[in-house]
Amino acid sequence: MHDPYSDKRRRWREHHELCSALLQQWEARGCPRPPPKTPPLPDDLWDLPCGAKTRAGTPCKITTLYFGGRCKWHGGLSTGPKSEAGKEQSRINGRKGGRPKRRKPDL
Ligand SMILES: [Zn+2]
Repeated sequence: MHDPYSDKRRRWREHHELCSALLQQWEARGCPRPPPKTPPLPDDLWDLPCGAKTRAGTPCKITTLYFGGRCKWHGGLSTGPKSEAGKEQSRINGRKGGRPKRRKPDL
């Protein structure tokens, strides 16, 4: 299905990538006051709908979007653990019986 808002969604992502880059630079400098001014969201992006295909086959109409340009239900699948600690926790969670249970207190 063609997304009629694909150009707006690309601009939405670019806007949020720019803002998060500004904030990361600010955090790297030690968060001096005042925080940096981020550019305002362009007016035509305020009412951008999610637009993902729903189970009914219609485009999603939710306009409360995350940085990826989709709503809370259509953000896509997790890309999995990235850090070594997260990968190790994932291995533990996948074992038969799951993560170690809390031991019974010694009587
Ligand atoms: Zn959606």
